[in-house]
Amino acid sequence: MGSHSLDTNEARQLIRETGLRATPARISVLQVIFATARPLTHAELVEQLSSSGSDASTIFRALNDMAEAELFRRLDLGDHVWRYEMANRHNHNATPTPHPHFLCLDCGEITCLEPVDIRPLTKENRELKKVGKVTEVLLKGSCANCQDE
Ligand SMILES: [Zn+2]
Ligand SMILES: [Zn+2]
Repeated sequence: MGSHSLDTNEARQLIRETGLRATPARISVLQVIFATARPLTHAELVEQLSSSGSDASTIFRALNDMAEAELFRRLDLGDHVWRYEMANRHNHNATPTPHPHFLCLDCGEITCLEPVDIRPLTKENRELKKVGKVTEVLLKGSCANCQDE
């Protein structure tokens, strides 16, 4: 996962391909999400874009419009905070989606992990038969930084 960036023209083109209008707010939101190798919350985006002149509700709408247009994937990692990352087909640099995430319980940092194939081990297990579509795989613990302290 590198630090690729998307220039304004590329961002505009990606947005237009989904049928949305390429507004300045959508372009800057897309550029930030694209350049970040982990999912971001609305609050983090507002903070990063505070100098761009987009207010919090404009950024919120831009995020959700582009999530609905399947440019972004929206994750709920159990804390009732939506996080957004690039959907796989638009993401040239990052981990394919869907993929598991690791949440550090000490600092809250989220890391994208390589995809794993999680399936019930035995067909005989009744509990596993209740599992329908898995939308998120989340691992929790302490990140390397927090463990060192
Ligand atoms: Zn940590
Ligand atoms: Zn991810």
